Amino acid sequence: MTRLDNELQRDADVIVVGSGFGGAVAASRLVDAGKSVLLLERGPWRDTLPVREAGIEDTKPLPRTGGMTSVLRSLHPPFGPKRGIGLNKSGFLEMWIGRGVKAVCTSGVGGGSHIWAAMLERPAAGFWDGRAAGLDDAVMAGHYKRAMQELMGVQPLDAARVPNHTDHAWEGEDYFTPLGGGEQPPMAILYPGADGAATPQTDERGIVRMPMDFSRDHGMFGSPDGSKSTVDAIYLLPAMQKGLVVRPMCEVRAIFRQGKEGYRVKVHDLDNRQDMLLSAPEVVLAAGTMNTNHLLLHSRRKGGLGALPGLGKGFGANGDLIGSWPVPGDGSRDAATGPPVHGRVKIKGHEDGVYVILGGGETPPVPGFLYARARAKAGRAYEVVAMSQDAADGQIKMDKATMSFSFSMSGSPSYAATMRAFETLGELSGRPVRFDAGSVMTAHPMGGCRISDDATQGVVDGAGQVHGYPGLYIADASVFPQPVGVPPSLSIAAWASHVAGRMTG
Ligand SMILES: Cc1cc2nc3c(=O)[nH]c(=O)nc-3n(C[C@H](O)[C@H](O)[C@H](O)COP(=O)(O)OP(=O)(O)OC[C@H]3O[C@@H](n4cnc5c(N)ncnc54)[C@H](O)[C@@H]3O)c2cc1C
Repeated sequence: MTRLDNELQRDADVIVVGSGFGGAVAASRLVDAGKSVLLLERGPWRDTLPVREAGIEDTKPLPRTGGMTSVLRSLHPPFGPKRGIGLNKSGFLEMWIGRGVKAVCTSGVGGGSHIWAAMLERPAAGFWDGRAAGLDDAVMAGHYKRAMQELMGVQPLDAARVPNHTDHAWEGEDYFTPLGGGEQPPMAILYPGADGAATPQTDERGIVRMPMDFSRDHGMFGSPDGSKSTVDAIYLLPAMQKGLVVRPMCEVRAIFRQGKEGYRVKVHDLDNRQDMLLSAPEVVLAAGTMNTNHLLLHSRRKGGLGALPGLGKGFGANGDLIGSWPVPGDGSRDAATGPPVHGRVKIKGHEDGVYVILGGGETPPVPGFLYARARAKAGRAYEVVAMSQDAADGQIKMDKATMSFSFSMSGSPSYAATMRAFETLGELSGRPVRFDAGSVMTAHPMGGCRISDDATQGVVDGAGQVHGYPGLYIADASVFPQPVGVPPSLSIAAWASHVAGRMTG
């Protein structure tokens, strides 16, 4: 690879930045189309069964002990160091703090597919229509179908055998309206088979995974046995067998246009503490909404890219509202047993509103001697999560090299409706749902690089290419012109598949 010098060389046909849903799907499709692809990821490989079985040696564990501070990679307050406060280069979580909103994202090969709850859902019909030339629901339909199959979205064979599943767990209670068939979204979980046996399973590509053991933690801090579908296992390991090169611990710091030849990418190798310049005719940015916006703003500031007048507009939080709902005091329930989320519900009287997801309590990664206590506490409250199409009227900016961003729930009627639903659940059950009504904590930041044919309103066109920058593409949720209002990863995967298709088609 090139060191910092003036020579321009082609390190690959395409450089992909980030290895979450967007980066992994794009890289896999591009390799299948015969391109040489170099994928740069700032985090490490995570030590999971499929990764270990594939022979990847230099891995870091998923967070299980060590306390929350060891989990944090970096903190990004509105003021302070331009790259945030670095805490642990192999850390799992990153926290971005803005005005009225905080966003959490992940670091590591596989990105947010380690933290996700594995719920797959499509946005409402018409979401992609009328956004830009060459893009509509019909164009996206095949990409959704393929991604759903690849991520292995399924229903459990028998929901009654899944602890806490919302299809059966609340029978006889009067808080929820029963759902009809097909209302529970598919889950990207390897459920135990009919015999309940928990033995390793190897698929036709040689990927090894275990069916989920519902008594163990598989939520936000990852699934060491591979029972949750993760994109490192599903897309990257097979693509590596076909030539994909993945470079972990390599953080992209800026992108520079090189005339008509392509792009130079400034990379910091975090293990060797070395800067490198890599180049390719095409670059796909898939660093996640916060980091893709940051990379573009920073590259513009450094003169690597030009004005990008639509950059930073239309930031939203996907209507995320997260509450904590205590279990009944009779000791009959353990919220933390089961898959990471227990399913969807509709709260009585709010049937026309959004679905509410009941999530399991999360055991934090505490040292072993504190585990039993932390696990018991996690079992005492469900997470109540709602998503909706908020107004996406927030903004992302860069002042003096530090990225700042803002979003207010007050501009979005969908938030008021969600809060009323949470309050109703508290009243009906006699157990109030605790939530922050003043500031959003989002797991699904979106926008800032929206799809639009108008370069003053958005950053990419209907093929995901940055306006005025041939060969520079974006394949993550930063492009969403409006929040999807549902768990977004299936849409990110489908969009990345579409972008790669347009790059090669
Ligand atoms: C607790 C929780 C539960 C969730 N559950 C669900 C769910 O059930 N269903 C669902 O659909 N979604 C869920 N999500 C959301 C999901 O995780 C994200 O939407 C998804 O991961 C975003 O995909 P992405 O490819 O855009 O970005 P990411 O998955 O965040 O991937 C981006 C990658 O880029 C890397 N990166 C960033 N900057 C750089 C750089 N400068 N250089 C090199 N690499 C870089 C990061 O380390 C990361 O690995 C959940 C999120 C959380 C926090």
